[in-house]
Amino acid sequence: MELRKAHSLQTAVSLGAHGIDDNNELRNLLDAMRSIIIYLDRWGVIQHCNIQAQYWCGQQKVQGLSFKEFAQYWDDASERQREIMQVIRTKRPIWQSLERSLFNGKESWYSVDKIPVRNSDGMVTGALLVISDVTAQVKQQRALQESESRYRAFIANSSDAIWCYDIFPPVDIRLPFDEQVSQILWRAELSECNEKLAYLFGAQKRQDLIGTPLHINDSIANKRDIRHFVENNYRLEECEFAITNKNGQAMLLQTSAVGDVENGYLKRCWGMSRDVTEYKQYLDKMEHMANHDGLTSLPNRTYLYQCIEAGLRDRRHRQKMALLLIDLDRFKEINDTLGHLAGDRVLKQLGPRLELELADTSGVIARLGGDEFAIFLPNIRNTQQVVVLAHRFLDAICQEFDLDGVRTEISASIGIAVAPDQANDVTTLLRYADIAMYHAKNGLKGVAIYDASYDAHSPMRLEIMGALGRAIREHQLSLHFQPKVDLNSHRVYGFESLLRWEHPELGFIPPNDFIPIAEMSSAIYSLTNWVLEETVKQAAAWIGQGYNISVAMNLSARNLLDDRIVVDLSRVLKKYKLDGRHLEMEITESMIMSDPQRAQVILEKINALGVVLSVDDFGTGYSSLGYLKRLPVKTLKIDSSFVQNMLDDEQDEIIVNSTIQLAHNLGLKVVAEGVETQEIYDRLAQMGCDAVQGYFIAKPMAEGNANGWLQRGEWNGTDRSVKPL
Ligand code: C2E
Ligand code: CA
Ligand code: CA
Repeated sequence: MELRKAHSLQTAVSLGAHGIDDNNELRNLLDAMRSIIIYLDRWGVIQHCNIQAQYWCGQQKVQGLSFKEFAQYWDDASERQREIMQVIRTKRPIWQSLERSLFNGKESWYSVDKIPVRNSDGMVTGALLVISDVTAQVKQQRALQESESRYRAFIANSSDAIWCYDIFPPVDIRLPFDEQVSQILWRAELSECNEKLAYLFGAQKRQDLIGTPLHINDSIANKRDIRHFVENNYRLEECEFAITNKNGQAMLLQTSAVGDVENGYLKRCWGMSRDVTEYKQYLDKMEHMANHDGLTSLPNRTYLYQCIEAGLRDRRHRQKMALLLIDLDRFKEINDTLGHLAGDRVLKQLGPRLELELADTSGVIARLGGDEFAIFLPNIRNTQQVVVLAHRFLDAICQEFDLDGVRTEISASIGIAVAPDQANDVTTLLRYADIAMYHAKNGLKGVAIYDASYDAHSPMRLEIMGALGRAIREHQLSLHFQPKVDLNSHRVYGFESLLRWEHPELGFIPPNDFIPIAEMSSAIYSLTNWVLEETVKQAAAWIGQGYNISVAMNLSARNLLDDRIVVDLSRVLKKYKLDGRHLEMEITESMIMSDPQRAQVILEKINALGVVLSVDDFGTGYSSLGYLKRLPVKTLKIDSSFVQNMLDDEQDEIIVNSTIQLAHNLGLKVVAEGVETQEIYDRLAQMGCDAVQGYFIAKPMAEGNANGWLQRGEWNGTDRSVKPL
C-alpha cells in the first residue's frame, strides 16, 4: 500500500518538475494527504512541500531550508540529512525508516520514505520525503510489548501452575462423547507451562515437561477428568484432583481449564492448577475441630446430630435405627479422688473400647460432653440386637482402668431409643434415649429401652401417677398367682404373686406399664406394702388349708434401699402368723448392683426373718454368679427369654445349661421361667433344672381360680403336703 502510494507520488513529482506550482489540482491533492511531503533538490534544499509540512514546522516558508533546519528536533537530524544526500547520490530509495522527534518532551514517531526523483531523462534531480506520523502505532506496539512481557513475567512468577495442552490434530466436537474423550487423551501434548507446574510435578525444569503427552501424565490425565471437561462444555472450574508427583508426594490440585474450540474443533486447552493440599488439610482440620471433641477426638454433639439427621432423612423402608445414650456412674468420684487428669484419661480410653465393640456394626460414637457419650446405630436388625450390643458396651466400660498403676473401675447406664418406632426426629430420639438412660440409672438396670411410662412428661404417666394412690384405696389392684412346679416330683410347691390393675377407665394395665412409674416415686412403697400384705395373707390361707406351700412376691429396687421393708415384713408375718420360709422374695440382679452394700444389709435382715430370697430374671443383668454367692439368696430364676428359645438357639441352651450347673455348684436352686411347652419342660428336667414356672403349668390366676386349680390337683394329686423346694 505504502509502496503504491510512493510510486504514484514519484510519477506526480516527475510531472511537477515541469511546473508543479501551476498545477493547482496536483497541489490540492498533495495538501489533502495526511503525510508530510517534501521535495528537496539535489543539494538537499527543500524546493516544494505540501501544507502538512508547513503546519508541522510551524513556518510559512519552508522552501530553502535543509532537512536539518526543517526538522530541528529530529533525532540525529544531520545523519538524516546525510541519508537524503545518499539517496540522491545512489539513486536508491529508503523506505519506511522509523524516525523520532522530541519536542518539549513530547515524543513523535514517523515513518519516512526517502525516494530519489528523476527527470524525464532519468537523471536524479532531487529527493522526495514522505513522512507519516506513526506515533500512535509505535506507542500501541510498545504497550503491547510491555504488556506481553508483563504477562510473561506474571505467568512465570505465578504461584499457580499455568499450562497449555495442544491437541493435534484437533478433535471434532461433534464426535460421540467417548470418542472425543479418548482422542483428547491421546492427542493432547503439553505445549506451554510455567516453572510452577514443573515444581508441582516434581520435574527439574519446565522444559522437561513440555512435549509430554497427556496420556502418560497420569496425574491429571485420568479419563474421568477429561470426561468431566467434555461434559462441562470444555471447561473445568476449580475441580480437585488428587495426584502423586514424581517424588511420590501426594497432593491435591485444584484445576480450572478452558478449551479452545475453533470451527467445531478443540485445538488446545489452557489451564491453571493450584496446590491446595495444605489448604485442604487446614480445612479438614478445622472441620474436624468443629465436629470432634478435643479431649477424646470422638465426634461431638454437632456431628452426631448431623449423622442422625442424615440417617433419618435417607432411611429406607423398614430400616430401623437406634440411639444409645451412655452416662458413666460415679464418674465424679474418680475426678474428685484421683483428679481431673485421671478422669480425662478414663474418658480418653473409653472411645477405643467402645469402638472395638462396634467393630462389626456400623455406627457413630460421640462424646456429648462431661461423662456422657452417645452411639448412633443407623441400621439395626431388632431391639434385641441393640440390647445385646449395649451390654457389650457396658462390659467394655466396666473393665478396669489402669491409671499409672492406680486401678479403678467404673460403671455406666445406657438408655436406648429406637427410630422410627419411637421417634422420627433427632430431638425426640435424644430425649427418649435420655429418659431411658435415667430410667436405667435409677432402676440400676444398666440398660433400658425407652418406654412411654418412663417419661415423666407423658400424659399417660401423669395419669397413672395420680391414679395409683386411688387404685390401692379403691381396690382396683389384685394379685394373680402363678404356680411353680418341682421338676423332681412334678408337683406344685409354690406360687408367684403378680400384681394386676384393673383401672375403671383405662382398663387392664399390665404391671410393666405401671410398676416402673410407681418406682419413680414413693408410691412404690405403699404398692409393695399392699402386695406384701396380700401375698402373706394368701400364703397363710393356703397353709391354713393344709397346703405346704410357699408364695413368692416381687420387690422393686427402691424397696431394697429402704429399711421399712424389713419392719413391715416382720409385722405382716406376725400378723398372719406365717413362718418366713413360706414367703419368698424375688429381686433382680440390677437391684442389688445399684448399691450393693446397702442392699446386702437389707437382704441379710430379710433372710434373718426366714424369708427365702431368689434372683429374678437371671441372665439379663450383669452380676456374676460369684458375686451372688456372697448374698443370702437360695434360688435363681432363669429369665424366660433364654428358656423360650433354648430348643432352637444353641447359645441360649448353653446359657441355661451352664447357669444350672454353676448355680448348683454354688448351692443354689434353679427355676426356669416362661415354660410353655412339654418339650421345654422335659429338656429342663433332663438338664437337672430344679423347678419350672410358665403357661405350660398354668397362667397367673386370680385368687379364686388359683384355689380351684390347687383343689383340682393337676400338679399335686390330692396330696397337700408338697414340700417346699
Ligand atoms: P416377672 O417377675 O419376671 O414375672 C413373670 C412374668 O412372666 C409375668 O408377667 C408372667 O405373667 C409372665 N409369664 C409367666 N409364665 C409365662 C409363660 O409361660 N410365657 C410367657 N410369655 N410369659 C409368662 P406379668 O404378670 O406381666 O409381670 C411382669 C413383671 O412385672 C414381672 O416380671 C415383675 O417384674 C413385675 N411385677 C409383677 N408384679 C409385681 C409386684 O407385685 N411388684 C413388683 N415390684 N413387680 C411386679
Ligand atoms: Ca418375678
Ligand atoms: Ca422373672
